[in-house]
Formats: sequence, structure tokens, C-alpha cells
Amino acid sequence: MLITGRQEKQIFEQARDERWAIGAFNAFDLNSLEAIMQAAEELGVPALVQTWDFYNPEKPNMSEFAAKVFIKQIIDRAAASPVPVILHLDHTPTFGGCMRGVRNGWNSVMIDASAKSLEENIALSAKVVEAAHPCDVLVEGEIGHVAGNSGLDTIYTDVDDAVAYVKGSGVDLCAVSIGTVHGFYATEPKLNYDRIAELREAIDIPLVMHGGSGLTEEQFKKSIANGIVKINFATYVQIAGGKAIADAVAGQERPMFNNVVKAGQNAARDFIKMHMQIFGTRPVSL
Ligand SMILES: [Zn+2]
Repeated sequence: MLITGRQEKQIFEQARDERWAIGAFNAFDLNSLEAIMQAAEELGVPALVQTWDFYNPEKPNMSEFAAKVFIKQIIDRAAASPVPVILHLDHTPTFGGCMRGVRNGWNSVMIDASAKSLEENIALSAKVVEAAHPCDVLVEGEIGHVAGNSGLDTIYTDVDDAVAYVKGSGVDLCAVSIGTVHGFYATEPKLNYDRIAELREAIDIPLVMHGGSGLTEEQFKKSIANGIVKINFATYVQIAGGKAIADAVAGQERPMFNNVVKAGQNAARDFIKMHMQIFGTRPVSL
């Protein structure tokens, strides 16, 4: 079922209180969408379908027509599901981009102004919150930059900055930099669990981890025990699906498109399911 921003907040708050997390998995086509939905439905837990801003006219990932059709498919699929579905628009650097998400039916959007100064980040995030909240859409912000996989040292989110950011912006979820990176790891991640716990103590909204791919089960569990509630997890799901496709094609003289695609979808579904279980994602009653 499609849920409201208010219900979504209820799910995140329950997860925060009970110390479990929700994985945010990326949908880029119908097969990846099915993988997420089937994993959540088989476990009876909330699904978090995350997309990027693929209908941005300045930087389109797909044609306007394809994007419109896909958005409608995601919403229809979510509405027909027995489990609650959060539709989240990931990393959106502009006010206009966030408003595209609100207008197109997402119940959660991320404004990413983390590369800007604290003051500018607060001002832009507050503007998005002011416009999104009356439409019952939640807003995720980011403080402290989660790096790409360049191997550069991570700068951990400063607790005082995070307090000022959350108070000044009014965001509902806060992405923090605690030692993970986006994509693959060039070096071993150094997760700062104490910082997660300090942040959880200092701010009373759910904390988000970006760059979940490549962490061990123990690293996930310790991060969640210390206060992480939403985990963005994309790269390794793509690898799981991609490898299954490679296996399905290997040695085949006549690989069938439908079978190959299905193999990728099923492998992604099982991998997502396994991570929902590692994250301790629970059924919720709204
Ligand atoms: Zn991210």
C-alpha cells in the first residue's frame, strides 16, 4: 500500500525506538522494482523503493515518456501491495528537483546540500521542508559529506553541526557521515560507532547511512544497534543481479532474454531479502 508521509514517519520512529533498520533499495526498471517488492512481500515488512531524479530535464536518465510511464508503474505496483511502501527520491541537489518528486507522487525526498556551507545547507533544506510538509512528504537531509570511493579520508559528521542543522532545517531524516562511502571501497571502511551513538543521543530524528554496500553483517548490526535507521544499499544489489545474469548466459549457445533477466531479478530479490533480515526489518501496523 502507498502510505502517507505521516505513516512513514511512524515506521521510522518505531524502527528508531526498537533499534532495527530499513534498507533503501534502488529501482531503475520493472525488474529491479519487482525484486524489492517481492522481497518485502515475502517477509511481510515495509518496502523502501528508492529512485534517483531520472526525470530531471537538465540531466535526463531516461526519456521524459519512459520516466512518466515508469513512475506510474512504481506507484501502481506500490498501491497494489499488501505491505507499506515508502517511495523515496534520493540525492537531489536542488529545490526544483525535490519539488518534482513531491509533484510526481513520492512520499519522501532527499535534499542534498551537504557540499554547501552549514548555513546554506540549513537554508535550502528548510525551504524544501516548508514546501514538502504541507504535501505530507518527508524530507531527508545530509550533514557531513558521504564521500565517493576515491579512498580519501572520511570526515565524520560533527555533532554540534548536526544539532544545528536538524534544528534549523526541520528535516525528518538525517544522513550522516560515519565512515562509509558510496560505491565500492578502495580501502577498509573505518566506521565510527561512537559517533553514531553520539549523534543518536544529540538529535531526535532517524539517522541514515549512505554507502551500505560492502559492509559486513557485524558492521551493519553494530551501526543499527548504535542508532542507524535507514540504510541506502545499491551497488551490491546490482552486482548480485549482474552476476546471476552472467552465470545464466555462461556456456549457453542460445541464452533466452526472458530467462536471463528473470535470473537477475530473482538473485537481486534474494540478496535484498537477506539484507532485510540482517537489518532486522520488522512488520509494522499503521
Ligand atoms: Zn547516498
